[in-house]
Amino acid sequence: MFFARLGGDEFAIFLASPPDQGHIEDLATQLLDSLNNPIQIEATEVFVTASIGIVHAEGQYQSPQELLRDADTAMYEAKTQYQGGGYVFFDEYMHTAARNRLQLEVELRRDIEALLQGTRSSFFLTYQPIVALETGELTGFEVLLRWAHSQKGNVLPDDFIAVLEETGLILPLGDWVLETACRQLQEWRLAYPQAEDLTISINVSGKQFLQPNWASKIESLLNQSQLPPSSLRLEVTESVLIASVAAVSDCFDTLKSLGILISLDDFGTGYSSLSYLQDFPVDHLKIDRSFIAELGQGENSIVQAVINLSHNLGMQAVAEGVENVEQLRQLLDLGCDFCQGYFLAKPLLPQAATAMIASPRHFDHAGLWHRDIAASKGVADQK
Ligand code: C2E
Ligand code: MG
Ligand code: MG
Repeated sequence: MFFARLGGDEFAIFLASPPDQGHIEDLATQLLDSLNNPIQIEATEVFVTASIGIVHAEGQYQSPQELLRDADTAMYEAKTQYQGGGYVFFDEYMHTAARNRLQLEVELRRDIEALLQGTRSSFFLTYQPIVALETGELTGFEVLLRWAHSQKGNVLPDDFIAVLEETGLILPLGDWVLETACRQLQEWRLAYPQAEDLTISINVSGKQFLQPNWASKIESLLNQSQLPPSSLRLEVTESVLIASVAAVSDCFDTLKSLGILISLDDFGTGYSSLSYLQDFPVDHLKIDRSFIAELGQGENSIVQAVINLSHNLGMQAVAEGVENVEQLRQLLDLGCDFCQGYFLAKPLLPQAATAMIASPRHFDHAGLWHRDIAASKGVADQK
């Protein structure tokens, strides 16, 4: 058996003979326990952790590099799984996962490059209507990115946004989303008088927010597309705001001073204190759809609390993921301001969204809003 320090708090154990799993686990636990006690450096107590990757170094390995690569893979798995330190045995599935992840990155890079060079567009935007609960009027759309993969068909963002963020590819693609959506809204405004007050809500990741001068980029985008700032809503998650670094704060202040509206997405799913709402007074709280799902089952206290919280702080509440008439009725009773969800309309391709603007519809309070557009072939996601 050999031990190695790969760097920092990263360790590897190489097992030369067939392992006695229990014995190795005891050993790794002892190693981790030995680091549990704080180390006193002058007046300060310092805590250290270790992540350990364990490999059975028999048979299949041709070179030390291969062995190190697998130890490293297992060590990163330990880092991800146990943030306070831990150990993981290497398993072949980690290889497959790493290979798939790499493949995804290569394909994303290739398709983003083609998009930016104008040779091929594998990305497109869909638009999910957002409706004012009180009046049943269409107030705008949330912009949702789709990737038309050459073999897999349409891929949803949950399967690739994380890779875009890790690799920084979200920056060029995020710019494209912003530009395309702003251009689309301006086209609608020019073509239809009833589109004048429509808004577009665009999801932005922390990486975008943290770019130096990102707010001034948004400002010039608005000037270019000649949109009023209040027609643009940026959706960020709590994790962006609680990073609370100076760059976020500066960007937030500049965007607000421009008159751009900010929505807090998936509200209630983070683990943060509410105090950041004082530092970052957003305009809308978007109630996560996991809470809306409970509305139909007689549980409305969290939704009620979030709506009250938004109103007490001078914000508006937006319900996400409304899937049935009962949820809609309850949201109306609870005084929610806006809602979106499959019950009203799925994310639409641009031509279906255009049709909706061209012949505006109101949904009646019994929930019998004309859903023929959502049912039409213009719907982007076949779920
Ligand atoms: P999100 O911003 O919370 O968007 C709402 C998600 O809920 C969308 O998933 C939408 O299709 C889905 N949805 C809407 N109504 C319903 C409903 O009634 N029931 C159910 N079950 N789902 C509903 P989607 O499009 O797969 O996007 C997932 C997430 O990916 C988004 O969550 C957002 O965080 C991220 N995302 C999407 N587009 C972009 C983008 O352009 N940039 C960035 N940074 N993130 C994006
Ligand atoms: Mg969103
Ligand atoms: Mg959301």
